[in-house]
Amino acid sequence: MYLKSIEMQGFKSFANKILLEFHDGITGIVGPNGSGKSNVGDAVRWVLGEQSAKQLRGGNMQDVIFSGTETRKPLGFASVAITLDNSDHQLNIDFEEVTVTRRLYRSGESEYLLNGRNCRLKDINELFYDTGIGKEGYSIIGQGQIDKILNGKPEERRELFDEAAGIVKFKRRKAATLKKLDEEQQNLVRVTDILSELT
Ligand code: ATP
Repeated sequence: MYLKSIEMQGFKSFANKILLEFHDGITGIVGPNGSGKSNVGDAVRWVLGEQSAKQLRGGNMQDVIFSGTETRKPLGFASVAITLDNSDHQLNIDFEEVTVTRRLYRSGESEYLLNGRNCRLKDINELFYDTGIGKEGYSIIGQGQIDKILNGKPEERRELFDEAAGIVKFKRRKAATLKKLDEEQQNLVRVTDILSELT
């Protein structure tokens, strides 16, 4: 699996629709200060479901929408789509190519799409569990993040190893099952109470 392309429109400094294509090997993005290099990384983080405006270096989520320049009006929406090659089927989905899209409108409306179909953020998160990709994955290492990892709490570091070892999805499933079990136990107590009132 590898990142084939990023398509952006109205995202931060990228007002016009732009397509960045990646090929085999290492790609470097170079440019003067403030030209938008880090915005490319922010776009990948955002499309994978980042919910924290701070992580995207903004005050609120609307800050990712192109806010205009002296010569250009602000835009009404931001859109980012990343396409991954999935010919090795590392992602558990029956497609050779996977495109994840996120859109946000100034009105606050937002949407996620998986291969062009509307989906929930939960679907995207589940697709990328244990791949190292995803907003909490280790595939995007931002400035200062290495220090944060080295100086972080042991539990936070553990999360990174869990992701690399591929056990996050099992941990999430276990937590969901335990929650269900707890709800069922409470239902059982209620039924027992009703039964004892009736007998
Ligand atoms: P450096 O080399 O200094 O780290 P960089 O190339 O990584 O810089 P970025 O931080 O990616 O640059 O981009 C910063 C630029 O993006 C700034 O010029 C800023 O005005 C612009 N920018 C950020 N958000 C928006 C937005 N919503 N609308 C328009 N421009 C934006």
